[in-house]
Amino acid sequence: MTETKTDLLSMNVAELQHFCAGIGEPKFRAAQIFKWMHAGVSFDGMTNLSRALRERLEACACVRFPEIEEKFVSELDGTVKYLWRLSDGQNVESVFMRYHHGNTICISTQAGCRMGCAFCASTIGGKVRDLLPSEMLGQVLAAQRDMGERISGIVLMGIGEPLDNYDNVVRFLRLVTDPDGINIGCRHISLSTCGLVDGIDRLAEEGLAVTLSVSLHAPTDALRSEIMPINNKWNVAQLLAATVRYFEKTGRRISFEYTLIAGKNDTEEGALALVEAMKRHVGRKMPIHINLIPVNPIKERAFAAADGQSVRRFAAILERHGLCATVRRTLGPDINASCGQLRNKENQMQKKIL
Ligand code: SAH
Repeated sequence: MTETKTDLLSMNVAELQHFCAGIGEPKFRAAQIFKWMHAGVSFDGMTNLSRALRERLEACACVRFPEIEEKFVSELDGTVKYLWRLSDGQNVESVFMRYHHGNTICISTQAGCRMGCAFCASTIGGKVRDLLPSEMLGQVLAAQRDMGERISGIVLMGIGEPLDNYDNVVRFLRLVTDPDGINIGCRHISLSTCGLVDGIDRLAEEGLAVTLSVSLHAPTDALRSEIMPINNKWNVAQLLAATVRYFEKTGRRISFEYTLIAGKNDTEEGALALVEAMKRHVGRKMPIHINLIPVNPIKERAFAAADGQSVRRFAAILERHGLCATVRRTLGPDINASCGQLRNKENQMQKKIL
């Protein structure tokens, strides 16, 4: 089993140097191994290492790239969805998206999720485990290799709550922004959170300055607590105050996600309450950008997407009150591209087979 082997892809160059010293190899091997791994190559392809060394590495260490369990290509917009199989058989998803400014990948940070948001497919079976830094990096490298195209942007918006796997996520961010690796700038990375305030404050101190995306989805505590249990721990006021602190510390603009659920949070009062909450808790302290996304209905939950008319009405109310809002373009609707849908389907199929 790979579990007993040293996970080299989670290591930075200094740690790899230490590892190399431990197996009696010179320091410069570390940079060679790092370069190969970050080009998506495992031991057998590291051609500037002797065969004997590659065999020794194989015996005690691993480079953890996920395997493709299933791959779906959208006929509508070329979006590609991967269902990966990790070394212990867990499945997670990534979505490769083409934008005019380059290719972006949405990756998973946990197998499952324990946050319990009422509309989300990822949380249905709870959290199974956190992903290792190598397993997050592996999604980027394996997709890049499979597509044969450079990935220049990353969003941590797949399965899992990134700030609930804090240390591994921060280590992943340092690896993926390393100039000797694939060197994706913090400006091209977005981390999405359902609102773990302690994690937001910690992240602001890391010197990483990634874009923070906050899943707000409701303007009042009554409604937010009903659809997002995390709101019972940190309420709307505390969450919005944390986003202001993050902005002040990093200078990065925050984007707020607001998923529109018909008859629940898409009403006129809902829009006005959102304006009120933003005015009260954010005010002029930072620019506000709100992404409106009609909810993607999942069959386990009785939530319907807001129709075009109420989406436009909602956006118009925000604009009228000076809040910048965009209606998010949905990519890959024909391939279950939303968070957690595929993993869920796969888990259910496996249950049927058992
Ligand atoms: N846990 C993190 C990141 C993963 S979810 C977070 O909560 O932000 C990524 C985004 O998809 C979040 O904004 C989440 O609220 C949203 N989302 C989840 N299920 C959805 C659905 N069925 N329809 C629309 N958006 C959904």
